[in-house]
Amino acid sequence: MSEYDVVVVGAGISGIAFAHRAASAGRRTLVLERGDRLGGCLHSNRLGSGYWFELGAHTCYNSYANLIDLVVSAGLTERLLPRGEARSRFDVLTGEHHRPLTQAGILRELSWREAVASLARGVGRGRRDETVASRFSRLLGARNYREVLRPFLTAMPSQDPDRFPASGPGSLAFVKRRRRRKDFLRSFTVDGGLQTVCESAAARAGIDVATGVDVRAVLREGDGVAIETAAGDRYTARAAAIAVDAPAAARILRRGFPEVANGIARVGSVTFETLGVAVRRATLSVPEAAFIVPKNDAFRSVVTRDVVADPSWRGFAFHFKEPCSRDAKLRRAAAVLGVRAAALEGVTEVTRVLPSPTIGHGEVMRDIDRALAGGALAVTGNYFGGLSIEQCVSRSIGEWERVAAHALPGGA
Ligand SMILES: Cc1cc2nc3c(=O)[nH]c(=O)nc-3n(C[C@H](O)[C@H](O)[C@H](O)COP(=O)(O)OP(=O)(O)OC[C@H]3O[C@@H](n4cnc5c(N)ncnc54)[C@H](O)[C@@H]3O)c2cc1C
Repeated sequence: MSEYDVVVVGAGISGIAFAHRAASAGRRTLVLERGDRLGGCLHSNRLGSGYWFELGAHTCYNSYANLIDLVVSAGLTERLLPRGEARSRFDVLTGEHHRPLTQAGILRELSWREAVASLARGVGRGRRDETVASRFSRLLGARNYREVLRPFLTAMPSQDPDRFPASGPGSLAFVKRRRRRKDFLRSFTVDGGLQTVCESAAARAGIDVATGVDVRAVLREGDGVAIETAAGDRYTARAAAIAVDAPAAARILRRGFPEVANGIARVGSVTFETLGVAVRRATLSVPEAAFIVPKNDAFRSVVTRDVVADPSWRGFAFHFKEPCSRDAKLRRAAAVLGVRAAALEGVTEVTRVLPSPTIGHGEVMRDIDRALAGGALAVTGNYFGGLSIEQCVSRSIGEWERVAAHALPGGA
């Protein structure tokens, strides 16, 4: 048993951003992570040769103001890398046929006849509680949405985007542009991969990290909290932050904070499998592109490392729709890339859980926040404002300020 000011459960960007704020305010902070590395969805697969490619998030923008503050504070400013020319190219895949497509080309794919007719009928008829499918079908036409836009929107949340709210909490809208930092690259990553952000931010003084710790429950203890692990260890703290995926958060809070847990249990989620592979550049002939977007395939999208080109290697993360065997994934990846399976190196499989918000998500979030008000428990993650890294960091900062004001003498 050990006493900390703050215990954070989950070492993804949400947990690390929370921990970084707490430690910056002079609070003794412990981060408990179930896996064997920091980063969560910021997962940079690193080969012995020094080459890396992303299995999860891949892009940050200069509108990510809070993330940029974290990057600067973690001493990473000099390690930011621009995402190069390939970032604006997609590769549309039909069967084994690759067709490179620029963003301008996507506009040419639209049926303008259908778009004009739909716009004439659809403008001004929107509702606040519209889904993505209904808004874009209304504005561009059902075929334009289904055939052109949908495959690209599917690539972003790695799931079916149809039922996502078109706007507001949980929507696919990224962060508002007015906060753009013109002194930073418009679209960037970090040398070593985005996981580096979590690793460097966690390395600051005042943060202890324990990996391989599966947290089972967070309970009330006096004015503070107690944290129980699967191994039977117990930690106490003045405050705790739960920064894990929604199903895990609901499980961890069920006994100690049932009202919060019930709210979180209403958040939908999807689980999907990713296969990461690296291939020697000389053996590959598929065109360079930021994404490979299939018309209809076993996977939803492939995210490449072509945006930060390397002279020797190319890297690919295949995000599959349904669980399937490693062999089936390898066979499909080899066929798409036009190489033998033996040419695939750095092979890594991961399973991810992402939120799947639907209409009414804002009300669910408000219920959770009402249940949290005034307590020593913070809950953060990608199921509040939205999926993006910046929205995770923003939620963590808001939660840190709230909990510090209520539960910690001296506040934030
Ligand atoms: C394929 C993909 C591509 C993406 N691309 C982008 C992008 O380009 N730009 C962007 O802005 N966003 C992107 N996102 C979204 C963004 O990366 C995520 O929403 C964000 O990183 C989630 O961070 P998080 O800390 O909330 O959760 P997670 O990253 O899921 O971290 C949660 C952590 O909690 C740990 N954990 C779970 N249960 C327990 C437990 N019981 N005990 C202890 N630890 C536990 C997990 O192991 C994990 O490390 C992408 C996401 C994915 C999956």
